[in-house]
Amino acid sequence: MPGRVSILGVPVHDVSLAEAVAAAREAVQTGRPLRVVTANPEIICRAAADPGLRAALTAADLVTPDGVGVLWAARRLKRPLRERVTGIDLTLALLEAGETLGWRVFFLGGRPGVAAEAAARQAARYPGLLFDQAHGYFTAADEAALMEQIRSFRPQLLLAGLGAPRQEIWLYEHADLAAVTVGVGGTLDVLAGRKKRAPLWVQRAGGEWLYRLAREPGRLRRQWALPLFVWRVLRQKL
Ligand code: UDP
Repeated sequence: MPGRVSILGVPVHDVSLAEAVAAAREAVQTGRPLRVVTANPEIICRAAADPGLRAALTAADLVTPDGVGVLWAARRLKRPLRERVTGIDLTLALLEAGETLGWRVFFLGGRPGVAAEAAARQAARYPGLLFDQAHGYFTAADEAALMEQIRSFRPQLLLAGLGAPRQEIWLYEHADLAAVTVGVGGTLDVLAGRKKRAPLWVQRAGGEWLYRLAREPGRLRRQWALPLFVWRVLRQKL
């Protein structure tokens, strides 16, 4: 595994998108599971106050820097990370890589209908992949049937878009469902065509979070984590 920097106690790996994909291919080949967390400032801050989430993050096989805030923090701590590896970029790269290998891919998450739509669209785009899916609003009573559905499908790749931190904790607690598991947030909404990504130039300028905030002002409450993150990173530096 690549080098890592501890940001507020969460180990974040200096991994590129290509390296993350290579690690996933290796996990499928060897059968040694790879649980991936894409860590943004919000989840790193939350982990400080939530021991369950902290355990899920510190025990993850790969923690990628998700967002410019995390890259900023690493630079501040004099341990720069090479690039941002977001849930959606990793998802697209894994679908691409898995296609030639005929992977079975399970989409878990989103409102009822979203994962099904995402699977249908991606099946048309990647005919070499096999998909199964379930929505993300299941209760504890539904879990046994859901696990049975996933187990009998035997996916190489399980993408869970249940929102953070639920997806990270859920995948931590259900580690054996696929060779590669990734918490992907709102990615399934994008794959289903329900939400749009920021234009490429905005992504490149590191402004995707601002774009999402402008389109979904309800996210503003979550952004309170940012100043807290900045303050804590500066304190860690001291
Ligand atoms: N979600 C879910 N189950 C829940 C709560 C949320 O499947 O119990 C889904 C929700 O429909 C959306 C995603 O999780 O598709 C949440 O995305 P969020 O905006 O939190 O993701 P991020 O900001 O991490 O991309």
